[in-house]
Amino acid sequence: MVAREPVTDTVTLFRFAVDWPAPQRAGQYVELRLTAPDGYTAQRFYSIASPPSQRGTVDLLVALAEDGEVSRFFHEVAAPGDEIELRGPAGLPFSWAPADGGPLLLIGGGSGLVPLLAMLRERAAAAPDVPAVLVYAARTRTEALCLDELETRARTEPGFDLVLALSREGAARRLDADLLSQALSRLPAPPRHTFICGSGGFVEAASDLAVDAGLPAGTIRTERFG
Ligand SMILES: Cc1cc2nc3c(=O)[nH]c(=O)nc-3n(C[C@H](O)[C@H](O)[C@H](O)COP(=O)(O)OP(=O)(O)OC[C@H]3O[C@@H](n4cnc5c(N)ncnc54)[C@H](O)[C@@H]3O)c2cc1C
Repeated sequence: MVAREPVTDTVTLFRFAVDWPAPQRAGQYVELRLTAPDGYTAQRFYSIASPPSQRGTVDLLVALAEDGEVSRFFHEVAAPGDEIELRGPAGLPFSWAPADGGPLLLIGGGSGLVPLLAMLRERAAAAPDVPAVLVYAARTRTEALCLDELETRARTEPGFDLVLALSREGAARRLDADLLSQALSRLPAPPRHTFICGSGGFVEAASDLAVDAGLPAGTIRTERFG
């Protein structure tokens, strides 16, 4: 690990130096393995938040889970200089590269934003002409990840739009059919690729809405964090 820095009260960025022969695709994840001196091991998956164009290091955003074994170790103990076993990159089906084109519909809930963030960063770096809209559901602005970055991108990057659904703040919006149709109306054509990521319940609800909105099931890819 080469660096750590807080993202929100409960999410921390950890940067790792890697010597992979080829870079990951945006959206892929790593398997992180901790081994205790007595040989006990714990493995968890973490999506890569940094884009492939950030060569030599990968950033993981780890949310502290209540009584979570691995996330608590990271938040409370892990420090720059620690050797941590990372395997990967894995998860090719839930990944995007500029050559895949768009338009892109990205739907994320909570820390499910992480792989979508990598896609948006890669789009900005290598394919700014690909139209994209992100629907991001979080409880509050304070809990939302990287909101400053997302709002700045929406303001300054032509062809990218952000639709925010904050369930415990302001108008208390949740992802629903109206919000999805609002997001779709911001794309110049129906999405060629839809990526949905979050908790199991969130992904199921969002996938149902996407299918009900008429998006072909074969264009929708999902990833469940738990
Ligand atoms: C493909 C993929 C990508 C992911 N990417 C990310 C990411 O980018 N960022 C991120 O933060 N997470 C991500 N996750 C989730 C991550 O892998 C872990 O599941 C998460 O960090 C929790 O791990 P933990 O060891 O802290 O918690 P765990 O120890 O696994 O516990 C998880 C929860 O279950 C509860 N629990 C544990 N044991 C019990 C028990 N016996 N009875 C009842 N409840 C119990 C704990 O209180 C805790 O709330 C991803 C998951 C997948 C599959």
